Formats: sequence, C-alpha cells, structure tokens
Amino acid sequence: MRRLGIYIHIPFCVKKCLYCDFLSFPAREEEKKEYVQALLAEIRREAVFYTDYIVDSVFFGGGTPTVLPEGAVEGILDCLRQSFCFAGDREAEEEAEITVEINPATADRKKLESLRRAGVNRISIGTQSVHDRELAYLGRVHKAEDFFRIYEDAVASGFTNINVDLMAALPGQTAADYMESLEQVAGLGPAHISAYSLIIEEGTPFYELYGGENAEGKTGAGMPGLGIAGENGGRRGILPLPSEEEEREMYEDTGTFLKERGYYRYEISNYARPGLECRHNIGYWERKDYAGFGLGAASMVDNVRWKNFSDMKRYIRGNLVKKESVREDCVRLSLQEQMEEFMFLGLRLTKGISRRKFRETFGRDVEEVYRPVMENLHRQGLLELDKGEYIRLTPYGRDVSNYVMAEFLF
Ligand code: SF4
Repeated sequence: MRRLGIYIHIPFCVKKCLYCDFLSFPAREEEKKEYVQALLAEIRREAVFYTDYIVDSVFFGGGTPTVLPEGAVEGILDCLRQSFCFAGDREAEEEAEITVEINPATADRKKLESLRRAGVNRISIGTQSVHDRELAYLGRVHKAEDFFRIYEDAVASGFTNINVDLMAALPGQTAADYMESLEQVAGLGPAHISAYSLIIEEGTPFYELYGGENAEGKTGAGMPGLGIAGENGGRRGILPLPSEEEEREMYEDTGTFLKERGYYRYEISNYARPGLECRHNIGYWERKDYAGFGLGAASMVDNVRWKNFSDMKRYIRGNLVKKESVREDCVRLSLQEQMEEFMFLGLRLTKGISRRKFRETFGRDVEEVYRPVMENLHRQGLLELDKGEYIRLTPYGRDVSNYVMAEFLF
C-alpha cells in the first residue's frame, strides 16, 4: 500500500506572537467547537479518496492544537483511525508517528497524559528561547519556567520522542544568549531539536518595526541556507536584530555544539539523535503524498497540490452546510515542476537526493537533466558529486542553499 502523511491544522492561539504570519488567531470556545465539527466532517468525507493508502505519520500543527477544548485532539485522532488505515494496526509493523505541537503555556500533565493514552507518540514543544526577556519581546504567552515544567510533564507522561523548537537571530540576542538557550535545551536530552532563525514576515508587527514598506524585498534573503531575514545589511528600522555575521555564527555553533552531544543535522535546520528524525517532515522533503485537513491546510497527492479555504466561514459552511469539498487552488504539477521540487526539497536533507530514486521516479538519469547545473555548482564548491548514490550540498552550499536551490528551477 502507498504511504500517506496527514497534517491537521488547528488555527487557534491564545494570542498572536509579534513575528507570526501563520494562519492562526484567538477564538471563542464555541468557535473552536464548531471548527472541530467541521474538521471531523471533512476528514470523514475525504477519507474515501485514500483507501489504497496507509497512514504512517500524523502531525497536529497550527496555531496551537492544545488550545482546543478538552478531548478534542483525541477525538480527531479517533476519527482519523476510524476513517484511515494506520501503520501499526497490524502486528510487526512500525506504528505511525503521531505528533502534536504544544505551546508550553497551554498544556499540563493531565492533558499530556490524555494525549499519550490516545496514541500520540511525539510531542513538539515550541519554546523558541529560555530567556523571559526574549520570549516577551517575541510576544510569546509562555515563560521559560513553563517550558521546563511542560518538558518534565511530557517525560513523566511517557513521551520519549520530544522535539523542542528554538529560534535564533532574535532582536537583542547575542550569540552567547542563543547558545545558553541551546545548551539548556540540549541538557534536557530531547530526541530532536529544530533551530530556525527569525524571519521578518510581511503583515506582522515585527515587519512594521523593521521598517514596514521599506523592508520590502529585504526579507528571507540574508543567509539563504537558513531563510533568515535581511539582505546585505538591509536590517534597519528599530528592531535590534543581530548582524548577519552573528547569525551565521549562531548557525555554525549550533551544528558543532549539537554534534558533540550526539545530535546530527539531518536537514538544514533540524537535528536529531540517530533514528529519531521527524518522519512526517522528511515526507515533505522526499515528496511523499500528504493530505492536509483543516482551515487553509495544504495537500499534495499524486502530484496534485491544493489548499483548503482560508476563510473560516467558508470552511465551516462547506463542511457542515453544503457538505462539499473545501479545496481550492488545485494545481497538477508538470513533469518539470516535479523534478524541480525533487531537487530543491531533497537537497535540504543532509544525505541529499538519490540518483536511483530520481531515475525510478522520472525514467531519466539526474545528470541527463541537470548536468550543466550540477557541474557548475560543483565547480563553485556548493555541491558534492561523488560517484555514489547521493548528491548533496557541501557545508558552503548549505550556507547559500537558497541560491543553490534556485539553480534547479527550469
Ligand atoms: S504560538 Fe505559534 S502559531 Fe500561534 S501566534 Fe505564536 S508563533 Fe504563531
């Protein structure tokens, strides 16, 4: 059977963080309950399209899944299990990876124990920093002590597969501040650490502080491998962001420090103990089929990409009143687009892209399609082209990965 990843979008948060442009917002309890009903209706209606799939990962993200009413995440998971075939349902098969994102201020031991009983086997805790000053600056609703408490609760509730999200290049942050957060988090011994740099996104309060309209074109380009904001010293305005050099130092120190502690960088910004990589996210980078349910959720199945309605009223009405598809923006990817994605998503992984898989997928050798580009990047010291199965970025290529990825676009 074919493998499927499922993403469940929960678009609610206690309060909007100042840098966040995700589809999330505060809501009343009634609205959350109605949303869950619409989500369940969507799952039950759409499941018929996936009868020849086996689900091997589920990811509850957002937003903040743990702001839903008590028992809601468990109910959604139950509905998924009734509607889909799950890996691990049969003996001797590895069980599906089921992750729930948690904001430290919105969960407690009771909630975690309930999630564990419901079959959730991976928790992703978004702390971003362990300094209260930085958390306040970001507009986060939790404090450092909430993070340490919830981490302890997660371990006590039986979770062994725990991810912690950290952010680098925060306003006013020095490399030493960042390393202190990293050391304290690594000291807890989680299975996985994601360390991303802050990106200044348009439409956020940080964007205005950064310089509003003047910041246009100055985001997401500073250090391409990291997707960091700011281009060539373009960080002006009143946000005291670290310099690109400091940001690069933080990135390099993260890799070195975590390697010494038994984590390896398996993707540009993700580190894990061997065997504990995030299966769900690897599915995105390897272009495995995934179905997204919920407001604005994205899907890719059989090389067709689509998104759900992002308007709550339309989404709820579509599922509960009209009882029809809430998909929009359906695009069938051309063969060229599939190859482009194969390259620029796969190269995010440290192991790189597999020549064999490229041949199996497209019936052609990768060299036949991309030889001039690959040789050019190799000459610049950005791509490793040994004769083995994999083609991968060099450390320098990782630093400028946005540039490298763009070279694979036709
Ligand atoms: S908790 Fe996450 S999703 Fe919610 S506003 Fe903050 S960054 Fe955005």
